[in-house]
Amino acid sequence: MSTPEQHANPLFAHGTPPRFEEVTPAHVHEAMPVLLKALQTDLEAFETSVEPTWDGIFERVRILMEPVEYAWKVTSHLMSVRNSDELRAAYEAFQPAIIEIYTSIGQSQPLYDALEAVAQGPDWEALGPVRQRLVQKELTNMRLSGLALQGEAKDRFNAIQKELADLSTQFSNAVLDSRKAYGLTLTDEADIAGFPHSLRAASAAAARAAGETDASAENGPWRITLTTPLAHPFLRHCRNGALREEVYRANATLASSGEYDNRARIDRILTLRKERAELLGFASHAETSLCTKMAEKVSAVESFMEEIRSATKPIAEKEHIELQEFARKASGDPGLDLNQWDVAFWSERMREQQYDLSEEELKPYHPFPKVLEGLFAMARRLFEIDVVAADGEVQVWHPDVRYFRIRNLEGETIASFYLDPYSRPENKRGGAWMNAMRGRQPGPNGETQHPIALLVCNQSPPTKDAPSLMTRREVVTLFHEFGHGLQHMLTTVDVPQAAGISNVEWDAVELPSQFMENWTLDKSTVEVFARHYETDEPMPDELFDRIIAAKNFRSASGMMRQIYLGHLDMALHHYYAPEANRDLANLKRQVIETSTVVAPLDEDRQECSFGHIFAGGYSAGYYSYKWAEVLSADAFSAFEEAGLDDEDAIAELGRRFRDTVLSQGGGRHPMDVFQDFRGRAPSPEALMRHHGLT
Ligand code: ZN
Repeated sequence: MSTPEQHANPLFAHGTPPRFEEVTPAHVHEAMPVLLKALQTDLEAFETSVEPTWDGIFERVRILMEPVEYAWKVTSHLMSVRNSDELRAAYEAFQPAIIEIYTSIGQSQPLYDALEAVAQGPDWEALGPVRQRLVQKELTNMRLSGLALQGEAKDRFNAIQKELADLSTQFSNAVLDSRKAYGLTLTDEADIAGFPHSLRAASAAAARAAGETDASAENGPWRITLTTPLAHPFLRHCRNGALREEVYRANATLASSGEYDNRARIDRILTLRKERAELLGFASHAETSLCTKMAEKVSAVESFMEEIRSATKPIAEKEHIELQEFARKASGDPGLDLNQWDVAFWSERMREQQYDLSEEELKPYHPFPKVLEGLFAMARRLFEIDVVAADGEVQVWHPDVRYFRIRNLEGETIASFYLDPYSRPENKRGGAWMNAMRGRQPGPNGETQHPIALLVCNQSPPTKDAPSLMTRREVVTLFHEFGHGLQHMLTTVDVPQAAGISNVEWDAVELPSQFMENWTLDKSTVEVFARHYETDEPMPDELFDRIIAAKNFRSASGMMRQIYLGHLDMALHHYYAPEANRDLANLKRQVIETSTVVAPLDEDRQECSFGHIFAGGYSAGYYSYKWAEVLSADAFSAFEEAGLDDEDAIAELGRRFRDTVLSQGGGRHPMDVFQDFRGRAPSPEALMRHHGLT
């Protein structure tokens, strides 16, 4: 057999740095059938001969999965960052087989039985806490896939799974189609008065996409659709209230009537999720969801939400009154009552007037090379690591992609990462993310292989005359993704299945990433990165102060929005019981009463486009956004308490953060890890204070 390096097809070369430059769609077509077939055979052999030991299960599965995982990771990564029609076709050709394999492992009866045998077996104690946790979590996940069910219950469970999968696809298609069906074409220059240039350009592009070949930012026509990049700025900037109302209503009633009506689907989804939970022995879908999360009980989530809601609501009410007064004054209409579709518009005017803070003013102080320097300096200061450029050591998928090594103080490389910073709309997916290219794991000769991360952002590219000048959001995003990367890369866990971000409870995953965001406003960090790209002058204090002041503009209102959605999600998935009068309409009414300051419109049907919980993975989990923010704010507040200018204290806390949150990964329960760092359970106090709500 040849060594992996000798393969002409880079997708066969697992265990080596991916040859991103060389991979073509033809490689996918060639490699995947071979790899999948081999895996299929291996898995069949595994199922007939599984040994109920740690190595017999976890190590064996990891090793036999590795070739397919490697090839598929490279392929899916290229799908996101160097897409083409040919690659998409190749990807789509094999994706169902990949999903099927993961599903079949998750539902393998011999695997489940072997895990049970390990859990009951004589060697249980000797496994140690990390492996025990993995066995238990795997058993829980498999029970949630119905593995412990027998006979009729199992058949019913499988039928429910299938129907739910179909419903979720139908749900998101209906949202998509309903969104696509809507468009508002503007031809009158007066209607776009006040549009910023980016919105003019984007709406003219939307008009061109809809067939208006001559549409231009200057002369129109301009088309507003219900996609976020158009609808949101439109509601903030359109001066014509009647047009805002039209777009707002269309958005609030998306997918709730006619051929795209999702209402019956929602009832069916809630009914089936409840039935499925009961088959598994839970009282509700919410209970099922929480049994794999950091939050342990519905009541824990509810009291957490109540705590932040009771502090937030009175302030949000005040914010609303202030906005109303501002709008009355600014419009010269003392009788003006704010409608839902006026809120974003007047908020934006108020923000402009109070803070006069524009991205254009900030960007020259955020040149990408400086921002990286500041980020890496901050990482050195806190975590005793050096980030060093290693461009050229490995193949990359685009010339703009950078490669870095992370070294400890002894100069040893402990991790490395790729960074793909710039937006490339022609073939790169939007958004930002961190993925693991390789975890910390034993290599073929027993040596420890260091983790490798893929960091991808979509910030403004450089121009002929200037480096990439970043918006504040882009800076925050880079710190955020780097935080995920640190948890992946600074892991010290020796069990690959629990190293880095693997096996971390879902509602705790955003702790390191959001924690890092805080440092974008830390004076010592800002001093390094916020420097004018032409003069190297530091950002003026006056400008920095305005950023701090603007940060909490109407933050209670923003917080209430998240609380409302989290509350609605939890209520629907815990209390839904139409036979007892707890149908969607009734539950929603109660949630509105408790968790909103201004009730939605009567015809509001936002749940019909709430894809997070009806077509995504967030059902009975939307609260996680705030939950993780509590953890990250509370972790940062340890540094604030110690004094952000006390270098010794910062260094000590930084090490502790590294040695707990960043290094222990999924090896321990996140509550234990957090308590080890903070010395106590998490408190929402810091979150509220950071948002100016105390
Ligand atoms: Zn994140």
